[in-house]
Amino acid sequence: MYLLINDSARKRAIIGGLASGLSFKEACARAEVKELTALVCRHKDQEFDRAVVEAASRHGKVLRSLHVGMPPYKDRELQARILQDIATTGARADALAKVAQRYGFRVRHFWIWGRMDDLWRGRINRLLMSVRDPNLPHGTSPAYRKHKCRCPPCRSLTLTKEKRRQVLAEYQA
Ligand SMILES: [Zn+2]
Repeated sequence: MYLLINDSARKRAIIGGLASGLSFKEACARAEVKELTALVCRHKDQEFDRAVVEAASRHGKVLRSLHVGMPPYKDRELQARILQDIATTGARADALAKVAQRYGFRVRHFWIWGRMDDLWRGRINRLLMSVRDPNLPHGTSPAYRKHKCRCPPCRSLTLTKEKRRQVLAEYQA
């Protein structure tokens, strides 16, 4: 289920959940919205993000506003530094997590930005293709789960069949 930018009933449900003391994750579950979808919505809708941060703070929960300063998915300088780091660490999930943490993010933010910004998505995906371990069977469960590779074909395992075909067509020669 997709939380549309103008789906105010679901937004109110999430904010209501937070105001009653639920965590962001719990509030999303109660509003029947995927947490990742709600996060994208916070990125896109500054008012919603502000209300979420405010409601959470009433119960002493500190959520980071996604709209203080330039949003990271528009900040090319920040992105360039992140890409430079990834170029030296490779495409493993744990290495990517360390890079993300260094800048105050989580790895899933990298994929969320990609949903809003084609340039970033292209850059990080091409980079991951070039720094991944060439000896792994990419796009298979062992490469994703055991070796924790996060190149586009490996990540495509989590997508629907249709989207997976698109990713493989683009990134697998
Ligand atoms: Zn891979």
